Amino acid sequence: MVTDLVVISAHAADYVWRSGGTIASYVQQGKTVQIVALSYGERGESAELWKHGGTLDSIKAHRREESQRAADILGAPILFLDWDDYPLQFSNDRVLCLVEYLREWRPSTILTHGPHDPFNPDHEATAVAVHRASVLSIAHGVLPILPVCKQPALFGFEHHQSELSQFHPDIIVDITDVFEKKRAAMECFQTQQHLIEYYAMRAAIRGNHARRISGKGTYRYAEAFVRSYPLVGGELR
Ligand SMILES: [Zn+2]
Repeated sequence: MVTDLVVISAHAADYVWRSGGTIASYVQQGKTVQIVALSYGERGESAELWKHGGTLDSIKAHRREESQRAADILGAPILFLDWDDYPLQFSNDRVLCLVEYLREWRPSTILTHGPHDPFNPDHEATAVAVHRASVLSIAHGVLPILPVCKQPALFGFEHHQSELSQFHPDIIVDITDVFEKKRAAMECFQTQQHLIEYYAMRAAIRGNHARRISGKGTYRYAEAFVRSYPLVGGELR
């Protein structure tokens, strides 16, 4: 079994802000997608719930419910690992746990956080850990009882403040047909309501860039990503 796209998100909502349209587009095309939320973002990304008297357990439950509804709207299964955030830490055991999941799902493409995010150490730690896990997943000497993966393509999200995250897009994905699904998924996160319009605007801005670069006037909304390895093929494209 091969999974077309595995999306690994540090917190409960990151995958929606930064790749919800791409996920919905894959699902619409009949491709297989698996989402992983490493934590609920209960400490670092749930300020409104803390201000209103939430407890750690109630906040985790709230964020999980929001995230599950969003994944259901996008049409992809989600696995919650509840590894705690702020700080989200990656022992060797946790990296090997990711390797086990990758060997089970056998992704063609992995999408996770881009390498730089000065405002969120969990995002940077996740980028490093997922890169490590993806490399280990193809190594024959690691967990030799599980068959190794083929080399997956590895892509990174655009972080919240692109310029400060040294973000230079390598690929822009058209999400015009599925943008309303992305918006509906974003609306699930009422605890981070301030981000909904922000990421809707960003999708429109990236849509503008997609039109300019491609010449295709039908592109209205898009998401941008960085890629870790060069594209290989028989032509320049
Ligand atoms: Zn996050």
